[in-house]
Amino acid sequence: MTRPFIISGELPGIPLRLGVVGGSFDPIHIGHLIMASAAREALNLDLLLFVPTAIQPLKQDRPASAPEHRVAMVELAIEENPYFSLSRVDVDRPGPSYTVDTLSLLRQEYPQAAFWFILGADALHSFPRWRDPEGILAQARLAIVRRPGVAVDVTALSQSLPQLQDAIDWVDAPLIDISSTDLRRRAAEGLSLKYRVSDPVHEYIDANKLYT
Ligand code: ATP
Ligand code: MG
Repeated sequence: MTRPFIISGELPGIPLRLGVVGGSFDPIHIGHLIMASAAREALNLDLLLFVPTAIQPLKQDRPASAPEHRVAMVELAIEENPYFSLSRVDVDRPGPSYTVDTLSLLRQEYPQAAFWFILGADALHSFPRWRDPEGILAQARLAIVRRPGVAVDVTALSQSLPQLQDAIDWVDAPLIDISSTDLRRRAAEGLSLKYRVSDPVHEYIDANKLYT
């Protein structure tokens, strides 16, 4: 898709401010969309890239829905927002989707951009255990959105990763107590996902009987 406003962000001397939202998006829900939108506003980002993971390194207990289903749902969820775009950088390469590699590949694609990796507080909690967190922080700042029921002690997390303390931009957003896990459970129990996911995503899940 052509997005003319990006061109101005790529003028020499004006780096594109780029947000990256990684996730399994199984399914993508309004919590993800609100998180991305809040980060865009708070940090004045030019573009938000939603990057569905191929294999989630920390989530290998449960098989994810097929990448093409998760990609299709992301496309449906973001299609009306000109600031939101999908990147296939993780689903199109083999092996687990380590964020440090995702960012390296995206930096080749957008060499002029300054990067923010956008995360919910639960993900920040496990961040020091990700593959090469120092390598991630060398490439991006972290934009953190609070998540219900998750308290984060950055000082404690910074003990093993001193760079973390100054690498975080906190993003204020409404607390949304929705997770894909809950949505999959609701669907399996025959409960509605309406209002929790956008309408086209809701229709896609029904049509493809994804979680029943
Ligand atoms: P699952 O239950 O399968 O783990 P999820 O709802 O946590 O799904 P993910 O795809 O794991 O969604 O999350 C992608 C990113 O979005 C993570 O950084 C996560 O913290 C964040 N996120 C997801 N839901 C919310 C929410 N309701 N509020 C804030 N952040 C969220
Ligand atoms: Mg999660």
